Amino acid sequence: MAGSRGATLLLRCAAPKPFKVSYFSTSSRLGAQNYELVVVGSGAGGSAIASKFGSKLGKGKVAVIEPSDVHYNQAMFTLIGGGLKKMENSARPMSSVIPDTCDWFKDKAMEFDPKNDIVTTAAGDQIKYQFLVVAMGLQLHYEYIKGLPEAFDVDPYLVTNYSPKYVSRTINGIETFKGGNAVFTLPNTPIKCAGAPQKIMYLAESKWKASGIKNKTKLIYNTALGVMFSAPKYAKVLEQICKERGIEVNFKRNLVEVRPDKKEADFMKLDTGETYTLPYDFMHVTPPMTPPTELMNSPIVDPTGYVNVNKNTLQHVVYPNIFAIGDCTNVPTSKTAAAAASQCGVLRRNITAAMNGKELVPKYDGYTSCPLVTSYETCVMAEFGFDGHPMETFPFNQAKERRTMLLTKKHVLPVCYNLMLKGWWEGPAPFRKLFHLGLTK
Ligand SMILES: Cc1cc2nc3c(=O)[nH]c(=O)nc-3n(C[C@H](O)[C@H](O)[C@H](O)COP(=O)(O)OP(=O)(O)OC[C@H]3O[C@@H](n4cnc5c(N)ncnc54)[C@H](O)[C@@H]3O)c2cc1C
Repeated sequence: MAGSRGATLLLRCAAPKPFKVSYFSTSSRLGAQNYELVVVGSGAGGSAIASKFGSKLGKGKVAVIEPSDVHYNQAMFTLIGGGLKKMENSARPMSSVIPDTCDWFKDKAMEFDPKNDIVTTAAGDQIKYQFLVVAMGLQLHYEYIKGLPEAFDVDPYLVTNYSPKYVSRTINGIETFKGGNAVFTLPNTPIKCAGAPQKIMYLAESKWKASGIKNKTKLIYNTALGVMFSAPKYAKVLEQICKERGIEVNFKRNLVEVRPDKKEADFMKLDTGETYTLPYDFMHVTPPMTPPTELMNSPIVDPTGYVNVNKNTLQHVVYPNIFAIGDCTNVPTSKTAAAAASQCGVLRRNITAAMNGKELVPKYDGYTSCPLVTSYETCVMAEFGFDGHPMETFPFNQAKERRTMLLTKKHVLPVCYNLMLKGWWEGPAPFRKLFHLGLTK
């Protein structure tokens, strides 16, 4: 049935049991189907918006276009790669996160026609909207690096936390590593959770220190960035950690090729364009990323391919009935689930205002958070806004490595994530205000 117009499977009800879903065909429907709100993508941001508006607008008013069967809490991937959580803690049936008030088009959005308010799916279904929220995340591009992704199949010490397919292998690579050059990379594109390429390095370093392997290991962090981290307050502490632990940090180095048979990696020096070969014994690769191809080919993006929204209202700069959330936007902040949670509150109020013909008021302040896991016992809880200025929730210096922050990352943030999917968590701003006695925003 797949691929033919009208044979798309539309799923209405969230399944009562994991991975048991009920579908019905739309083959009897003719012409475009109309919705008050269409949400494209049901990851962290899209699920939250669908939950909020599914219950607000009622059954049959909201459609979700999402091709995947499984939803992952990707923010947990670092902990899975480090052996602190299992994949089953992160993965859940997509049917369990799409509210039963919403119609689920289990398909890819392929074309956007913002002049006629229509999204067309891969199977050719035309879905008409009054309002649209784009929440399509980022696409991973292992294939941009010559030799990947096939190298993952032959080299158990070539690992990545960025894909559900590979993340569970990381801990095995770390635990069976016998020493040598251990390389960690960050690519020359915007990525989700820009701290994650370092977090797994600190976890590996802790394991190797405890097992004695570190004495036989040289840790190298090759980053395409020119700084350790985008927010200066936290960059400083990370630089210090690398110095203390003997980690070599090389800025403006971009991985371009991997030869697993020779255990060699080629990096380009971005300042000069010169390429050099680095022998590796263990390597964690963070892949280049772009917005999904279907989005990049659409008329709703800026020249770099990201949905072109006002960074404060999250409303499209040309089409006022289009909004966007999360990693696929051109909002200039670090791309995290924490940022998407904070954007949810802004969208809830702004879309409601737009639906009622009112002025958009709430302003997104760029809030984002990156729990920088620095060992199996500590974490630096980075929280910051546009331009990297700190927006810390707790009334103590969060740039310090703390055990309590690791416990927060492991046990509290997954709860916040689940609440977010239900539309009940819009970031920590109320707590920040409370903990700072109302003296902060
Ligand atoms: C290793 C790793 C560690 C991370 N650590 C953290 C952390 O500690 N803290 C934190 O806050 N964040 C972290 N993140 C980032 C966080 O997971 C993302 O920023 C967040 O998921 C973004 O939400 P989103 O809704 O924009 O995109 P996603 O959650 O990626 O969802 C996008 C959805 O769009 C769907 N989609 C794609 N193309 C189409 C299409 N054509 N049509 C319809 N649907 C489509 C996808 O299937 C997907 O379901 C981490 C991510 C990774 C990979």
